[in-house]
Amino acid sequence: MIRDMHDFEFQGLPWNVTFGVRAVNRLPQILARLGLQRVLILATPGRTRQVVMLQTVLGKSTAGLFAGAALHVPSGVVEAAVRAANESGADCTVSIGGGSTTGLGKLLRKEAGLPQIAIPTTYAGSEMTPIWGVTTANMKRTGRDPQVLPVAVIYDPDLLVALPPAVAAPSALNALAQAIANISTNPVVGMVAREAIRVLAGGLPRVMHDNGDVEAHAVMLQGACLAGAALGLGRSGLHHRLCHLLGGMYNLPHAETHAIILPHSVAHTARTAPGDAALIAAALGAEDAAAQVYGLLKKFCPRHSLQALGLSGRDVEQAIAAFDGDRDSAEGARKIMQDALAGGPP
Ligand code: NAD
Repeated sequence: MIRDMHDFEFQGLPWNVTFGVRAVNRLPQILARLGLQRVLILATPGRTRQVVMLQTVLGKSTAGLFAGAALHVPSGVVEAAVRAANESGADCTVSIGGGSTTGLGKLLRKEAGLPQIAIPTTYAGSEMTPIWGVTTANMKRTGRDPQVLPVAVIYDPDLLVALPPAVAAPSALNALAQAIANISTNPVVGMVAREAIRVLAGGLPRVMHDNGDVEAHAVMLQGACLAGAALGLGRSGLHHRLCHLLGGMYNLPHAETHAIILPHSVAHTARTAPGDAALIAAALGAEDAAAQVYGLLKKFCPRHSLQALGLSGRDVEQAIAAFDGDRDSAEGARKIMQDALAGGPP
């Protein structure tokens, strides 16, 4: 680990972040600064209140609405959104929602050339990464492309007060996973990751205690921003590969899959890279990183095993067979998935 931390290449990302309570009201100025005029709003179904609020803020700049974003960005949804974009004559998208909506905006940048302004309403962190993903016939493809990074991000903690705790907690563990994967990527990313872990672990009990606490959501959004930054600048490891594999094969809820697998992948880190596990534990303010993450899962998340998400031993065996990796990582993957299937302590 020490050797890696002293031998690295590093490239920054051109982020453009506006952060603050009711920061969404600054959207017209942000659009004007970027020279953008006709907005296609992106959302998941049912987010009517936030969409109406956005239409009011945008006024005549609203060119259209596509409220069909879906988990794992199915390719059929991308095709329908591209048609909506062409019909509306939009010159950009403004996504309001979780990672599914931000992810659709990234595909519209790829497929229709529309720059995206992202307004996140979960802790997914996708808005800070150049990582895109799309799912066709149960296979999720992902890639990195600097072009898909949103041209602006607006973090407004006011928008999260209705976030259900059952969505918030797994989303927080999803963010935690991004930071944990980058704890020793290089000195700069490691610093961002450590701070993300500290902020998220401190903020989660506060939002779970009172999801109307705007200040607590601000803390969590700062953690999400840092965690997304760490992932955007850094790497995604075995943990992310397993989540994408299972998520794509069985259409699992993304954040919950991360949350359930995370204690077991941290235990894997403790077995294979104990120095990294010690750094993660220190950032969490705990003795044992895997046990601490498992504690967060048990205390705050509604489901704790892949079994509870509906997977069987046979499904996991199929995923193991589909896993593409060398022998060591395949054995690691098998143990992580089997332990996560049962959901006991790591
Ligand atoms: P999501 O976007 O699917 O949202 C989950 C649910 O919460 C949806 O029903 C949504 O309508 C609802 N919701 C969102 N915000 C809300 C709010 N403020 N109040 C009430 N309800 C709200 O889930 P997610 O976990 O945010 O994102 C998952 C997706 O993001 C996956 O497709 C994943 O691959 C992607 N992702 C990508 C990256 C990346 O870097 N590319 C990073 C993290 C996640």
